[in-house]
This record gives sequence, structure tokens and C-alpha cells, in this order.
Amino acid sequence: MNTKFTKKLAIKSIILIGYIALFSLFPKKPQTTSSNSIAQIPPFDNFPPNLQKPPKPQIQPSPATTPTPKPAEQPLVFAPPTQFRSQIVYKASISNSKVIALTFDDGPTAETLKILEVLQKHNAVATFFCLGRNLREYPEIAKKVVQAGNAIGNHTWHHYYHDVTEKTASNEIDYTGIHIHRSSGAKSLLFRPPGGRLNNGFADYAKKKNYVVVMWSIDPKDYQQLPANTIAHTVISQATSGAIVLLHDGGGPASKQSRQSLQLFPNSNNRDTVLSPYRNSYNCKQKKNSK
Ligand SMILES: [Zn+2]
Repeated sequence: MNTKFTKKLAIKSIILIGYIALFSLFPKKPQTTSSNSIAQIPPFDNFPPNLQKPPKPQIQPSPATTPTPKPAEQPLVFAPPTQFRSQIVYKASISNSKVIALTFDDGPTAETLKILEVLQKHNAVATFFCLGRNLREYPEIAKKVVQAGNAIGNHTWHHYYHDVTEKTASNEIDYTGIHIHRSSGAKSLLFRPPGGRLNNGFADYAKKKNYVVVMWSIDPKDYQQLPANTIAHTVISQATSGAIVLLHDGGGPASKQSRQSLQLFPNSNNRDTVLSPYRNSYNCKQKKNSK
């Protein structure tokens, strides 16, 4: 019996289960089957009149010989299953699997493209919580984020920390949602409040609008400009199944440190925890005393 093969198969099975489990919390392309919970997502409403939808191309009246136009593609929606709507989530409940979720805040920026390269190199994807003002500035980068298979989430327009009225929260979140759609063609019901603040009005409004408020369980403090290997070590040493990791692709030097730490993940198998790249997440398993 080839034990190596069997072991490999067992690990692959674990990875697959983890992948499926994590996907239950994180983005998924809407399916056409009616059983998919995404089909129940309410449409965005209350869009300001001048920003309702991306402008549609003018369609000329077609001559008789023109083939009938294709039906409009179903929009990509990043949304959790219904039980997570209007909830605050710190980590995913995943059993029998060893996956963690990477999240990047405050982009998109030029650095986002470099992070995408590293993620692609490791066949991993992440969730990017974007600022509306950056989406307006770098719509093409947001598009690449989604095209590369990553999810996109709402992180408000201005990144205010102070208390806001419901009207301000509405402007900040709704306009950002509009620009997520304009730039990437996707809709998102994933929300992360600036600074993780839950009591200044944003989270309440997001919950009211059916977003899932995505917090985190691992904060390697990349914003303190710690060395990349320190960031990587924090993530690796704290990694447990379903963990959500807070990283940054915007906001200055933090993004560079995050990217560099990401490069270190697959090479950290000399420690107790192994992180190996996997699509949608990093698969991590406790290293057993082999040999
Ligand atoms: Zn932020």
C-alpha cells in the first residue's frame, strides 16, 4: 500500500472539505439553481438618482437580420448564506478542516496589484474590503481583483472612525456599494467597519441593510509596520480553522509589509504550523512529528 499516496489523498480530502466549508461564508458566484441562497439576496435599493446603475450602452434598433441579443448575464454577488445576514462574524465555524481566510483592507491601491500577483502565485484568493473613494480612483484594479477570483467587500467611502448619523452611514456604504458594482460588476453584502468599530453607526446601518459584518480573529498588526516575518509568524502561530486574518492593501507601508509576509507563508513549514497555498484560503495543518 502506498501510504504516501493515501496520506496525500487524506490531506486533499481535508482541503476540499475546508474549501467547501469556507465557501459557505465567503463569496460565491450565484448559481442558476433555485436552491442557492444567493438567489434570495435583496437588490440594492435607495441608490441616489444620479448613481443608480452603471450607464448602459445605447442599443440601436436592430435590423431584422440581427441575431436576437443574448440575455443579460447574471450579476456576480458576494454574499453569505442567509443565516449570516445582519450578523457580526469573527471567524467561520468550520469543522474537520484547516482553512483560514485572508482579508485585505483599505484598497484598492497600486499595491493591490502586487498582492494579487502573490496570491495568484500561490493559487490563493482573498477578500478585499475596499474604500469607495479608492474604487472611484482605481476602478480597473477593483475589476482585476474580482476577475482574479477574489471577493470584494464594502469598507465605507471615507473610513471615518467618529460617530455617524444614519444618513451619513447610508451615503458612505451605499455609494461604496455603487462603486463596487460600477468598477467590478459585482454586488457585495460583505461589510467591514473602519477600524473594526461596531458602535459608531456604520455596523448598525450595514446590518439593517442585510450585510454580514466581517470582523477578524487574527490581527498581525501590519499597520504598525512590523517586519514581514513577524507578521507571518503571528498569522502562522495563531492560525486555527476558520480564522479570519486582517491585512491591508491600502493605507501606506502596511500593504507592502503584508505582501512580503504573504510571500513567507508557504516557506514557514519549519514551525509547528504549516500553511500551504490553496485556492480561496490558505490550508493550514498542524505539523505532526513525522519521522
Ligand atoms: Zn480600514
